[in-house]
Order: sequence, then C-alpha cells, then structure tokens
Amino acid sequence: MSPDIVIVGAGITGCATAYELSQAGLKVEVIEKYVPAAMASGWTLGGVRQSGRLQPELPLAKYSIEQWSQLSRTLDYDTGYVQEGNLRLARNEKEVKAIEALARKQKSHGLDIVYLSDIKEIQAIAPCVSSDILAASFCPTDGHADPVATVNAYKEAAQRNGSVFRIGESVETLSTEGNKLSAVITSRRTIRASRCLLACGMGVNQLIHRFGIQVPLSLAIATVIQTTPAAALLKPVLGVVDGAITLRQERDGKFRLSSGVQKWNGAVIEKDGQPYVFPSSEKVYSTLKAGFEICPSLKGLQMRRFWGGSIDLTPDALPVLDKLPGIEGVYVASGFSGHGFGIAPAVGHILYHLILGTIPKLAFQSFALERFEKNQTDTGPEPVATLQG
Ligand SMILES: Cc1cc2nc3c(=O)[nH]c(=O)nc-3n(C[C@H](O)[C@H](O)[C@H](O)COP(=O)(O)OP(=O)(O)OC[C@H]3O[C@@H](n4cnc5c(N)ncnc54)[C@H](O)[C@@H]3O)c2cc1C
Repeated sequence: MSPDIVIVGAGITGCATAYELSQAGLKVEVIEKYVPAAMASGWTLGGVRQSGRLQPELPLAKYSIEQWSQLSRTLDYDTGYVQEGNLRLARNEKEVKAIEALARKQKSHGLDIVYLSDIKEIQAIAPCVSSDILAASFCPTDGHADPVATVNAYKEAAQRNGSVFRIGESVETLSTEGNKLSAVITSRRTIRASRCLLACGMGVNQLIHRFGIQVPLSLAIATVIQTTPAAALLKPVLGVVDGAITLRQERDGKFRLSSGVQKWNGAVIEKDGQPYVFPSSEKVYSTLKAGFEICPSLKGLQMRRFWGGSIDLTPDALPVLDKLPGIEGVYVASGFSGHGFGIAPAVGHILYHLILGTIPKLAFQSFALERFEKNQTDTGPEPVATLQG
C-alpha cells in the first residue's frame, strides 16, 4: 500500500514532521540513507535558543521553547533537555557594544533577555566563565538538549503512530506525471506516492535540480570537540557574538565545543557506510583555544573525540520551508544555516500545515523559496552563518 507521504531524511526535521503528520493519522514512510541523526542532527552542538535568532525565526524559537519544556513527556522519551539559559559573552569592547545592542533589540521584541556588565553577575550564573569577560547577555529560557536522543524520541513516537522508517536506503529520483509527483525512486524500489517532503539537509538539490530548481545553498563546515565527562561545572550554553565558539556541558558531564563556520568543498567521506566530514587540525586547535579563553577550566580535561559538521547556508541564513514551485506534491525543508535544531518543534508544526493545506499558528512567508528568485543570478554578498548554540 502506498504511504500518504514519503519523507526523505531522518534528521530532526524529518522525524519531527513524521511525528506531527502521524499524530493526524497519516501513513508516513521515512527513507534515510544512513541512520537517524547521521548528519547535521547528530553533528550539532544541540543548543535550543531564542536569543540571537534573526527576527523571522524568533516566533518559531519561542513556540519551540514551549514544546521543548514538555517534549520528553509528550514523546515518552528523555530528550536530555536542560533549560538553564544562554550566556553570550563579550571578550572585547567591540563585542560589548554588539551584545548590549543585541540584548536591547531582542528585549524590545519581547524576549526575556538581560544585559550583564558585571563579571560577578555573570559568574553567579556560570562560575567557570573567565574573569577576563567584560559583559554578557543572558536569556534564562534558552537551553540545550541531546540531539541523538531527541531524533530518536521523535522517531519512536512516530513509529508508535504507525510511521515506517527505512534505514540504509537512499532516495535517488522523484518521478512525475505531468506536473505532479507520482513516485519516489530509491536505491531499492519504486514507491508510488503523491506527496514527498525533502528533509534531506544538504542533499536537497541533488533531488530537485532535474526540475530546474535549486535552493541557493553554500556549504560550510564547523568543528565540534567533545571532552570526557567532568564534574558538573556549567549549566547554560556559552557563546560569543560572532559565533566563533559555543560550548555546553552535556548532562553526563562531557563538554561539547563548536567552532564558527568556514567555507567547505562539500566532500562527505563515507566510511563503514556512514558519512563523515573532517575538520582541519588547525581548526581543532583554534576551537580549543577559543574555548579556553572563555572557560579556562576546560584546560585540564581530556579530549574524547572531534568531528566536522556541515552547514547548509542560504544567502539570508533563513531556511526554506515551502512547496516546490511547479511540481505538485513536493515540499522542501532545508537551508537551516546552522540553527535548525532548536526550532524543530515549530518547523514540524509548520510543515504539517503546509502539507495538509491548513493554517499553522506561525507565519512562514519569510521561508518561501521565491524570496531568492530575484537574486539567483546576482553574485550578492557572501552568505553568513548567524550564531549557533
Ligand atoms: C556543528 C554544528 C552545530 C550546530 N549547532 C546548532 C545549535 O546549537 N542549535 C541549533 O538550533 N542548530 C544547530 N545546528 C544546526 C542543526 O543541527 C541543523 O540545522 C539541523 O540538525 C538540520 O536537521 P535536518 O533534519 O534538516 O538535516 P540533517 O540532520 O542533515 O538530516 C538530513 C538527513 O537526510 C539524509 N539524506 C540526505 N540525502 C538523502 C537521500 N537522497 N535519501 C535518503 N536520505 C537522505 C541524511 O543522511 C540525513 O540523515 C548545528 C549544526 C552543526 C553542523
């Protein structure tokens, strides 16, 4: 029997949307080339933040925070969510000005965020922060979660609702009859389908280029380092205004540090059937150095592993959540630009309504693909990643 919808990709976007659609009784089939959370959703820092979001994403982040608070209970699976805030630290006078302005602006948009200019106030929230830090913004309702656990939480809840996950199977082509989707062709079979969501991260353009459409993505790489478990030292996520370093302590004591992003040639290496992106040793070194600068207590810890993570950047650093123009039944969710983990509950909600043709609680016009049409031939400014964490 044909599914009501095929979802390509079992990252957090695909799994959250499978859950939402299966709650409404739809028959969902998710096709994943590797394993769930094999790419960005496993490589991520796992920050769940509203602070520092671009304005069109802020309502999605606020909506998501309400969901995150109850997600473990709703999905009956511990997502590792911790709501202990986000401290964005100023390391020099230029960053002091930027953080003060950011806090003022976001407060005027209704976010619960304060500007702290006294190191004692900052260290009262996070004692391990360096005494050289000059100021910070603090958003107490931000937090972080365990990325792999969250993806599995959504996946298992969707499965309990009847969704089917095909792991280790790759979608190769979308077939159409006239201007309508008719089938999804995988490495193993042909699935008759009239609806398909492309939640396949940086893989989206491989599946839509035959329709003469592209999501304007440039690919970047971030470096992530994980230490061995340490005593409890840090509750909030620590970041800096240019995103050059973000770090958090996981619930089991491991620290996870993420660098800023660099241009990347897009080469994913497959090893033992799984995808890897390798960072340069220089970047591992500079990420550690930036981590030590804001949190000197990291110096004594052992490094457990490090990895690279690919970032699918759009020119305005906002995602595309849209129908594919001209091809009925195909939907796109990509280009999260390094901050699609925390907003996944809102993205799942929007995609549910987009696919069913109903009205979501959240505006999503800013995420239409057509916003790039005018600019597609422009060289334009370089895309920039905004903050992670
Ligand atoms: C280092 C790093 C740090 C980050 N930090 C944060 C953060 O702190 N907070 C935050 O909110 N966000 C953060 N992000 C961004 C966030 O992790 C991503 O935006 C989010 O995980 C994207 O999820 P996704 O499901 O859309 O894509 P992905 O997780 O990439 O999932 C896509 C899936 O599709 C599969 N796939 C691809 N092509 C095919 C195909 N043809 N057939 C079948 N399957 C296919 C892939 O294997 C993959 O599993 C970070 C990202 C990175 C890399």
